[in-house]
Amino acid sequence: MTKRDYYEILNIGKNSSKSEIKKAYRKLALKYHPDKNKDKNAEEKFKEISEAYAVLYDDEKRKMYDTYGHAGIDQRYSSEDIFRGADFGDIFRGMGFGFDDIFEQFFGHQMDFNQRPRAQRGRDLRFDMEIRLEDAYRGVETEIRIPRTEICDNCKGSGARPGSEPKKCPQCGGTGQMHISQRTAFGIFTQVGTCQKCQGEGTIIEKPCPECHGRGTVQKTRMIDLKIPSGVNDGSQLRLAGQGEQIGKGGRGGDLYVVIHIKKHPKFTRRRDDLFQKINISFPKAVLGSKIDVDVIQGTEKLKIPEGTESGDVFKLSGKGMPRLHGRGYGNMYVEVHVKTPKKLSRKARKMVEELEKELEECDRKY
Ligand SMILES: [Zn+2]
Ligand SMILES: [Zn+2]
Repeated sequence: MTKRDYYEILNIGKNSSKSEIKKAYRKLALKYHPDKNKDKNAEEKFKEISEAYAVLYDDEKRKMYDTYGHAGIDQRYSSEDIFRGADFGDIFRGMGFGFDDIFEQFFGHQMDFNQRPRAQRGRDLRFDMEIRLEDAYRGVETEIRIPRTEICDNCKGSGARPGSEPKKCPQCGGTGQMHISQRTAFGIFTQVGTCQKCQGEGTIIEKPCPECHGRGTVQKTRMIDLKIPSGVNDGSQLRLAGQGEQIGKGGRGGDLYVVIHIKKHPKFTRRRDDLFQKINISFPKAVLGSKIDVDVIQGTEKLKIPEGTESGDVFKLSGKGMPRLHGRGYGNMYVEVHVKTPKKLSRKARKMVEELEKELEECDRKY
């Protein structure tokens, strides 16, 4: 079954203001509230209009819907999250019926509309780290200092002074909500709101933990072991699960992402697992061929320059590049040769070059 357009459901225009959306919903809710409308389709209809209202009344959700349609909402929010945050309490106030029960039918459990959605997971943290190419080659084991929110050791996150415990809130009986019913000429008037005594937590702390002042969490700078694998790339992210911000009272810790930046190396440039460098060789070595020492990450290697090498020729040192991640061999080192032309000559050298020139012309004729 394809979902109907939310604006169409509420019978309003695309540019409707928030007050128009609310007005349209209020009118339809009065008509379809299952307490009032006994038609068997009323519940379904009520759910449909409530969903349309919950999305369109929320600026962020409305924008997602306007841009991406139903897919933008359905892929992003669970059906509970669609309804969470909408001020149904406000709407139903004055209509004379409750709304918890009907949403309980929709979702199979009570919704906590009036509570701020509780954070179930701490925030993720990001740590940027600069290393040398040599470190990326070998891999590094190190410690990093991360300032973060942690569960208070003293009270184990409860917020209560050790030896005491958070008590069930006597005002709301632990639900975090208050129902205030008033009998009026129009019927029973029920308001549901956040319990003022416990701020919706359902518990109160009589003796707060002196370390965290009842928050259950503290700020700490923690040393965290970090293992950077050999072959790591510039921009790689290492995820340390659960090492981000922690939240008290049963929430999961966020993750820590370490982003690796590799410093520019004075000699080598890297492309994936291969390394590149340019070297200068003398004209005679280029002409005659030679064996020269070339720097690699770990020391030096002999490179054979063949006879008749020209400027710009590239030679490969197999396996002398960067290690591939997860131990799958190595890339190569590519060496680009530049034949150096001497800028200053001694009298003797000049004479020899002049002689060489003549001789080379002779060679050209012969071969
Ligand atoms: Zn504490
Ligand atoms: Zn309470």
